[in-house]
This record gives sequence, structure tokens and C-alpha cells, in this order.
Amino acid sequence: MMKENLEKLKKLSEEFLMDTYARGEIGFAYGLGAKLYSVDEEEYIDFGSGIGVSSLGYGHQGLAQAIALQASKLIHTSNLYYIEPQARLAQKLVELSGYEEMKVFFANSGAEANEGAIKLARKYGEVAFEKKRYKIITLQSSFHGRTLATLKATGQSKFHQYFSPFPEGFVIAKDLGDVYHKIDEETCAVMIELIQGEGGIYALSKQEVQDLASELAKKGVLLIVDEVQSGIYRSGEMLASHLYEIVPDIITLAKGLGGGVPIGAVMSQKEIFTKGDHGSTFGGNFLSTQAGVFVLETLSEMKQNGEIDKTIQVFHQELEGLLVEFKELFCQKVGVGLMVGLEARSEEIQSKVLEVAKQERVLILRSGRNVVRFLPPILIAKEEILEGFARLRKGLSSLIG
Ligand SMILES: *Cc1c(COP(=O)(O)O)cnc(C)c1O
Repeated sequence: MMKENLEKLKKLSEEFLMDTYARGEIGFAYGLGAKLYSVDEEEYIDFGSGIGVSSLGYGHQGLAQAIALQASKLIHTSNLYYIEPQARLAQKLVELSGYEEMKVFFANSGAEANEGAIKLARKYGEVAFEKKRYKIITLQSSFHGRTLATLKATGQSKFHQYFSPFPEGFVIAKDLGDVYHKIDEETCAVMIELIQGEGGIYALSKQEVQDLASELAKKGVLLIVDEVQSGIYRSGEMLASHLYEIVPDIITLAKGLGGGVPIGAVMSQKEIFTKGDHGSTFGGNFLSTQAGVFVLETLSEMKQNGEIDKTIQVFHQELEGLLVEFKELFCQKVGVGLMVGLEARSEEIQSKVLEVAKQERVLILRSGRNVVRFLPPILIAKEEILEGFARLRKGLSSLIG
């Protein structure tokens, strides 16, 4: 069957858009719950939520109304003036984090939030010590964003092919153990993802993270936790830092926070910035922060009444089932909460799995070298989970003959 609307959309995109994305041959027109409908009216089950962004799924009436009402009153005034939903979202973030001393700065994306964290750490390194500290240590298989500084902070070398010279002062450690060797008298911070999202859904060891956190505290080196992907209940807790039982100096957030409206946030224990040190024209505007308030109210309630934990249980049961049934394809389940993956036995299998998933109309993601990643909407219904896995089983069966 000819997909007429897709062909038109593809042609328009190729003519006018820069060719930066390897897009699946799909375009969507609308969604409902965890289902997305293509421009040619095909129904997909979404286990990717737009890379961990659409945490409430699609067509959520409450979120749509919160945004629409705010849009009809005020979308933007700039940060030259007080912004009520911005202050309320900051309050919510601090309360739900349980880290009472924290304060918040709002940006528009994950990379921007990380830029803010890097600037915080750099200023701290300059004002808190006699001899300036400026180096930030990050991990080899990390991902921190696409701006020049966050690209340099991203440890994976495939991101460093062009674009030099990069900002200086980033040091890559092979793993957590190697961080200790890389710390010197010029180190101001260590930045990590507790669960590496792009680097293979790799969850760092809790003990190792806790040991490192106390070592850094002793040395006066800041611990920045990039929770752009793992934050806002993605791990099952409001923050993955709660699972790890640590208190980071700085936390960055973005993806799931706005339910699809662009927003990023930096939370910090230490008051380092003073007036004029940092800013953003759009950051924290009425629209994005009102969306953030609604998302946090909804998800915190779901967490409290046990719905998120139930969803996680069902999702993991289904994943385990897939692992047992398709041993030829997968060797283990990785990740936590609704940030999970199946490690494929080879890169080739990873690609084939993604291909059959698409044929069966289930959206999943790649991660690392050979992991098939699942980041479903946190609000996904049990029937949608079961339907998605039924489709996956059907597709995977065709791979093992
Ligand atoms: C996605 C991601 C980023 C970058 O976020 P953008 O909004 O694309 O700038 C940074 N860090 C982590 C851990 C991410 O998953």
C-alpha cells in the first residue's frame, strides 16, 4: 500500500530541512495514551515516548488544558519580571526531591541545563579556592548534550569527530574507579549519569557511586548528576539519585519534565550564582513551567497511589518474558524503572529487532552498541503494555525461524 501522506511529508522535509537526523520512515499526526497514529492512519504502540519526553503519553486532556489556559493568559514575559508558575515549579521540584537546601534555575533543554551546571561548577572552582579549579571529569560512555561544552563533556569519541577546538577543561575517566586517578588540584566537579541513557542503559553500581560521593565531598569536588533522562520518575523514583541514596551538589533535569514542552532545570545545593552570572530569554517561561507543574502533580500522585510501581512491575514482567522466550536474541535485561533495555547478542541482532518492531508497529529505541531501549510513557496503561509486547513477540518469532 502506498503511503501517500508519508511520501509528501518526506519530500517536503528533505527539500527544506537540514539532513541531521536518521529518521525512521514514519511521521505522526496525533496520539492518544501510549498510541501514536501516523499521517497515513497506522496505529503504533509507543515504548519510546519521544526519547523519554512524553511522560504523560499523548492527548492528555489535563495537560492540554493546563497549557491552553496558560497560553490564553500569558506565554512569556522574560525573566526581567517574576513568574508565578516558575517559582511554583521550583518549589515542587525542591519539595519532591527532598533536598531542602536546593535552588533551581530553568533552561530549555538538557544540554542547556548541563551548560548551567558546568558554569556553576566553574564559578565554584574559581571563588571557593585560593588556586582556581576548573576541570570537570566525566565518564567514557556518557552523553551530556550537543552544545560544544556538553559534547566535549560527552565521553564517547564518536561525537568529537568535527567541530574542534572544543572548550578545555574536560577530563574523561574510563569508569568510576578511574575517576579517582583523574582527580587533581584543578578538579572542580565530576559529572555522571547514574543510569547511562545513550551509553547502553548502564546503571552504575550503587556502592561505587556512594563511595565516590563521599570521597568527592571530602575533597570539596562537586558531584553533578545528569538526570536529564533518568529524572522525573523515569527510574521509578522522582530522581535516580533517590535510588542511589545520595545527595548530589548539582542535578540537571529536562526530558520528562515538561511532558513534551521544552524545559530544562539545574538544581544546586550551593548558592554559587549571583545576579548576572547566568540567564536565559526563554528559560522558565509561563508555558513550560505551567506544563512542568502539571506533569509533577500528576506523576507524584501516581507514585503515591502506587500506579507507577504497578506499571513498572508489569513492564518488567513482560521484558523478563521476552528475555526467556528469545534467549537466542538477548542476553540480559538492563536498567531500572521505566528506563530499561534488553542487551542483544550482537549489533546485527539489535538492528533486526528494531526493524521487526517497526514492522509490528511498536516504537523502541537503540542505546549503546547493542541494547534495545524502552522508555515508555510513565502513564502507559497495562493493556497498552501487553499489546506492545504481544506485537513484539510476534515480530521476534519471525527472527528465530
Ligand atoms: C538527552 C540527554 C541530554 C541532552 O538533552 P537535550 O534536551 O537533547 O539537549 C543530556 N544528558 C542526558 C543524560 C540525556 O539523556
